[in-house]
Amino acid sequence: MPQKDMRLIDKPGPDKIVLEPAAGTSAIEGDGDMTYRCGACKTRLLDHVSHNDVFHGEAFDAIKCPKCGKYNELAPEDHHHHHH
Ligand SMILES: [Zn+2]
Repeated sequence: MPQKDMRLIDKPGPDKIVLEPAAGTSAIEGDGDMTYRCGACKTRLLDHVSHNDVFHGEAFDAIKCPKCGKYNELAPEDHHHHHH
């Protein structure tokens, strides 16, 4: 199963969409084969997601890790199929 660490970023501005999953949960859980982890503490933030889940489902700019409180975004290279 492919697994990637997300990229740590500073707190996004108020115009950004930030997912804040509750402690012990991931922001998105799907039926895909990719898992994205917090770049700081390796908590799973996107669990078993597919490309569609991440890029064509619920739109977001960043995910706040429920464990360490850091903000994560997808690395630019993960956007290679992005259509926006
Ligand atoms: Zn974390």
